[in-house]
Amino acid sequence: MRTLSLRGGASLPVLGLGTWGLGEDPARRAAEVRIVRAALEAGYRLIDTAEMYGEGGAEEVVGQALDESVRAGDVRRDEVFVVSKVYPHNASLRGTPAACDRSRRRLMLDHIDLYLLHWPGQHPLEDTVQALQSLVAEGAIGHWGVSNFDVDDMTELESLRAVRAGGPPCATNQVYLSIGQRGAEYGLLPWMRERGMPLMAYSPIDQGGLLDDDAVLGVARRRGLTPAQVALAWVLSREGVMAIPKAARETHQRENLAAAEQVLDAADLQALESAHPAPVRKQPLAML
Ligand code: NAP
Repeated sequence: MRTLSLRGGASLPVLGLGTWGLGEDPARRAAEVRIVRAALEAGYRLIDTAEMYGEGGAEEVVGQALDESVRAGDVRRDEVFVVSKVYPHNASLRGTPAACDRSRRRLMLDHIDLYLLHWPGQHPLEDTVQALQSLVAEGAIGHWGVSNFDVDDMTELESLRAVRAGGPPCATNQVYLSIGQRGAEYGLLPWMRERGMPLMAYSPIDQGGLLDDDAVLGVARRRGLTPAQVALAWVLSREGVMAIPKAARETHQRENLAAAEQVLDAADLQALESAHPAPVRKQPLAML
């Protein structure tokens, strides 16, 4: 699979697995662990989670699945890139490392590969960034980044003392981007590209909302793809963008992996563009 480099070094597959909705019901735990194990067996090497998902439950599912997969010899730990996120209300100077410790325990990991501030919050950003940079220095996380940051938030981030001092840089910004929600393409995505920072697109299928979109269905029929594959291939056609669709069903997981190998042609892109034109002015960043 094609890869992209984070600002700060690591190379990531352009398609990973989202886990929002997992870990909410202990009765489903075993089945959900099997879902994540199946994804690893199918070839997923990037998994996105957060302390928010199931209030730690999703991290536990991911941790158990990864542990079992490593023990079974399906994958090596160093082959899998795990992303998690700190709640904004936990992201103080002291709260961030404490939250990270809890996440590492639930994930059963010595280090989290990428740790993001989930959205801008009430604690001074300078403190959060300082805490995240310290976690990188200590080896508790590989890279740090942000999520749901618009251009003004990114500009503030860049002006921080901790960032200007030359510590580990913000690796990525995870935001909502899909053919149905293109706001990030105006302003934010160019800003990130200029700085060599990839964008991690969440909800790339609009949580299933794009599956019955007429333009998406038209391209899907013409190309012999599924609507989800068209939605994903479109997101991945944007330069500097990776995507983390959530798929609990194994057929969906495999379809989505295959979508990363699809290249939409000019006619496909034009058909999608006509129905969902690129933004021509700044819009508030969509957030779920
Ligand atoms: P999504 O990935 O756009 O859509 C997930 C839905 O699409 C699920 O219902 C899934 O069904 C379905 N689906 C997936 N592949 C499919 C396929 N090939 N055919 C038909 N249906 C398919 O929405 P999302 O979960 O909101 O976003 C993805 C991930 O991004 C999240 O799980 C989370 O990790 C992350 N996220 C981050 C933020 C943030 O604030 N940073 C916000 C939202 C999401 P099944 O599960 O039944 O297969």
